[in-house]
Amino acid sequence: MESIAKILAPNPQNTTSHLKVQSGNTMKTETLLPGVITNKDYKGDGFVPSIINCEFCDKERLTLGFSYFSGVVWKPSGAESCSCDSGRKKYEQEQLNLATIRLAQEKEEQEYALQQRVTRVISQSGMAKKFLKCTFENYVAVDGSKKAIKTAALGYAKNFTGQTEGLFIHGEMGTGKTHIASAIANHLLNQGIAVICMNERQLLGKIKQSFESSRSFDSDSESQVLKTYETVPLLIIDDMGKEKVTQWSIATLYAIIDARYEAEKPIVITSNYNLNELVNRLTPKEKWENDSTTARAIADRLTEMTQYIEVLGESFRRRK
Ligand SMILES: [Zn+2]
Repeated sequence: MESIAKILAPNPQNTTSHLKVQSGNTMKTETLLPGVITNKDYKGDGFVPSIINCEFCDKERLTLGFSYFSGVVWKPSGAESCSCDSGRKKYEQEQLNLATIRLAQEKEEQEYALQQRVTRVISQSGMAKKFLKCTFENYVAVDGSKKAIKTAALGYAKNFTGQTEGLFIHGEMGTGKTHIASAIANHLLNQGIAVICMNERQLLGKIKQSFESSRSFDSDSESQVLKTYETVPLLIIDDMGKEKVTQWSIATLYAIIDARYEAEKPIVITSNYNLNELVNRLTPKEKWENDSTTARAIADRLTEMTQYIEVLGESFRRRK
């Protein structure tokens, strides 16, 4: 197919060295490229563009086609230019107009495709409706610390390449960490970049749900859900350390984080706890499973994978 496109593409070299578009009153067909035919010479079946005459000098303007298999593909740009000055000028203008229209159509198609993609990635992000409204613009940053966080997070979102290091956003409850994390997610989602942004409970809940309903055909299997968490361009885990952990939940969290570490995929974490406190929070409390090994392994991975930023200051919710 490439050869067809090449031969039919408007190429000034073809016109001068091979086609000799006008010779006397008609086109010299013996100099055409192999496989190229004019509508005047074509005797086969099917649609044949009619021969038109130049509106200025009345010479015939033929249409080129490329014959293959049992048919002909006619050049979509229509009849060739006439060799007279006025004819050529008009033809050039028409081709320019066509190119402009085509470009506008392509742009429209790309925008539509992006819009479709944005809708899809948003629906798969796992984000609640209220967090889809959280942007950098509506993040209230009154003090210096919050302004700095906003600048850092916005810079992170703007320069996101999929291989950048992650962020560990630490701050007290109500300091707007979830808003900042959601703003990063929304910034990327609106460019069609897939992001999963959930809290620990939702994240693990989806895995539990997947193996509980693994016998039904329409649900994602456990491994599919895990695979998505491991491969999505950005995974955001909001409010880490909030939930009561079990050996299973902590092992699952570690598996996800470790897979992303191995694949060099970034992760963004928000937490009320710093990494040391998090080890304690992520250690199962029941006597028979009280072992901090996995929790420490998670903290080690996060230390390597993320840039630590702290949201200081008074809580938003309390300030009102
Ligand atoms: Zn003419």
